[in-house]
Amino acid sequence: YHPHTQSISYTTLSRFPPVRLLPQSSRKRVLVTGGAGFVGSHLVDRLMLLGHEVTVLDNFFTGSKTSVSHWVGHPNFELVRHDVVEPFMIECDQIYHLACPASPVHYQFNAVKTIKTSFQGTLNMLGLAKRTKARFLLTSTSEVYGDPEEHPQREDYWGHVNPIGPRACYDEGKRVAETLTYGFHNQDNVDVRVARIFNTYGPRMNPYDGRVVSNFIVQALRGENLTVYGDGSQTRSFQYIHDLVDGLIALMSSDETRPVNLGNGDEFTILEFAHLVRDIVEEVQRADGVAVPRRVNIVHEGLPKDDPQKRRPDTTRAKTSLEWQPRWTVRMGLEEMVRYYKAKMAEGSL
Ligand code: NAD
Ligand code: UDP
Repeated sequence: YHPHTQSISYTTLSRFPPVRLLPQSSRKRVLVTGGAGFVGSHLVDRLMLLGHEVTVLDNFFTGSKTSVSHWVGHPNFELVRHDVVEPFMIECDQIYHLACPASPVHYQFNAVKTIKTSFQGTLNMLGLAKRTKARFLLTSTSEVYGDPEEHPQREDYWGHVNPIGPRACYDEGKRVAETLTYGFHNQDNVDVRVARIFNTYGPRMNPYDGRVVSNFIVQALRGENLTVYGDGSQTRSFQYIHDLVDGLIALMSSDETRPVNLGNGDEFTILEFAHLVRDIVEEVQRADGVAVPRRVNIVHEGLPKDDPQKRRPDTTRAKTSLEWQPRWTVRMGLEEMVRYYKAKMAEGSL
């Protein structure tokens, strides 16, 4: 008899959110690289609430201690400052390998370092998975499809990437990280999972990382012009962070070893998206009793080189293999985001 198999119990350490008490047999020792970043910190929250033991490795390049500080001191949690370019040893059952800057501004800041992080960092973490027999999950990206010639993108599409362009450090870095992952799988029987993540947004996204969702919301809240790059006919599909975390955990728990797209199929031109964000920001402001003095303008700026023209995931594999599909509409997610940035502005931290 084990009391915890009869009903769900929670620990009630007063300083922390209630964490599920798992029997030892189902509690995992989970390593999350890049766990102090945007996606990582939400994943860590969920893994902690589920009752697992979580170690975060992060060099705090784009992540911050504050994104996971609410867990510091919890007996199931550990935060380690470490650069994944250097080897690391720990006993663990699962590795979620996220460490890598994700926004164009950040990954182009030091392109060679981005490539090193993708290649050497993934090599080190796969070596760790091999030694400890941990299951390894790589957070790859829709960028492996480059500027795609097939639409929507299915996992068996090989992609269309410029190997020497400004985005190559990230795109090719992730492509070689996938190659390494399947190399270890085929040669050394490492148990691997690969998530190809499409544009994701949500609270804790760095407001200054230059990505379109954060840029547009912050601009609209400040009453500044919304900057659409190019004519705005390029498309993206936006997924809310909670859906992504559901998908990552479902993938880790599944038997699916092939790459799996995780994204929301609702596709917008960037110009349509600018209009939508402007409308939602105005609606939220009015609902909160804030007078909206004038509509902000939508202005056009130069299109960055190699900016993909279209992007939308085919998520059939995730639906079939993981029984996963996004639950957050873009409107619901954007409303949450607007309230999050509004609160940050009110407390003076934005
Ligand atoms: P992020 O920049 O917020 O998080 C990345 C984290 O990795 C940060 O905490 C950073 O400090 C850490 N890091 C970077 N280099 C490191 C190194 N050498 N050693 C240790 N830590 C390092 O980005 P994110 O949006 O949370 O992305 C997380 C993962 O998901 C990345 O692998 C990214 O490629 C992938 N991804 C994200 C998106 C998205 O839309 N957010 C889309 C596709 C793929
Ligand atoms: N974009 C834009 N205005 C901005 C920021 C981005 O028009 O202020 C465009 C960008 O050119 C791209 C799309 O929005 O076509 C998504 O950009 P982001 O950097 O968010 O993600 P990625 O290009 O990596 O998909």
